[in-house]
Amino acid sequence: MSSVPVAVVTGSNKGIGFAIVRALCKQFPGDVYLTARDPSRGQEAVAKLQEEGLRALFHQLDIDDLQSIRALRDFLKEKYGGLNVLVNNAGIAFKVHDTTPFAVQAEVTLKTNFFGTRNICTELLPLVKPYGRVVNVSSMVSSSALGGCSRELQQKFRSDTITEDELAELMTKFVEDTKKGVHEKEGWPNTAYGVSKIGVTVLSRIQARMLNEKRKGDHILLNACCPGWVRTDMAGPNATKSPDEGAETPVYLALLPSDADGPHGQFLSNKTVRTW
Ligand code: NAP
Repeated sequence: MSSVPVAVVTGSNKGIGFAIVRALCKQFPGDVYLTARDPSRGQEAVAKLQEEGLRALFHQLDIDDLQSIRALRDFLKEKYGGLNVLVNNAGIAFKVHDTTPFAVQAEVTLKTNFFGTRNICTELLPLVKPYGRVVNVSSMVSSSALGGCSRELQQKFRSDTITEDELAELMTKFVEDTKKGVHEKEGWPNTAYGVSKIGVTVLSRIQARMLNEKRKGDHILLNACCPGWVRTDMAGPNATKSPDEGAETPVYLALLPSDADGPHGQFLSNKTVRTW
């Protein structure tokens, strides 16, 4: 078994994830895994980094597919005995003018952004080694969407005692409410992406709390962040940041030094803790 430190970035064949891998290849003292659901897109991305003189390794990972997640889990367990850095970056967003029915957008978006990210965490968090760092890429849209929730929902999403199961039930309820056409009446904002990212931010707060309760002595730091508005296929060419600039906050959180005792369980943008 290798004792080399290992970092994994989900959805990293392009966009912000690719830029995170690029930065980690330069700064992380160990093996960096670029992962992609499509192996050929992943291998192409690895080759692109190689042309820049950077060495990333590749592993297939589709966060919608539990078998794929478990194959990565078993690989990491066997080869490295765990992992040191996990960046949950993979995500999707329908374009503003997409005509797919809202209920379908809600189901598809929540499936990847919330439930996929949650499944990765369920399988990989137990493998994270002491002093490990976990970064969940959320969005400032999670904050604005929270502001668009009913007072009752806001209270639940800001609660310091909400459980992961309760959060998952709420995310499922959002999808069900969109199918019945009652989501606004039930206090939800009109954004599937926003609700999915509320899920990612709240999930991070819960997971950090669980680490405090169950693995306090392990000094693991887990946070959610917004990369900013970044020029990628998701956000388009008019966004203000380059992918490398978008990678800065996630990479800062992934590389928090071993003597840092925070941030932990926070939501950050531009390397600054934001009020939730
Ligand atoms: P992007 O260019 O569209 O890249 C998204 C990446 O996620 C791609 O590599 C994509 O793979 C991958 N992905 C999607 N579904 C996946 C799945 N089921 N399993 C594994 N990988 C999957 O988007 P981006 O702008 O870089 O976004 C990266 C993250 O930042 C997302 O979580 C996004 O919500 C967040 N974010 C972005 C912005 C922004 O302005 N761009 C702002 C706030 C937050 P394929 O190539 O196979 O599709």
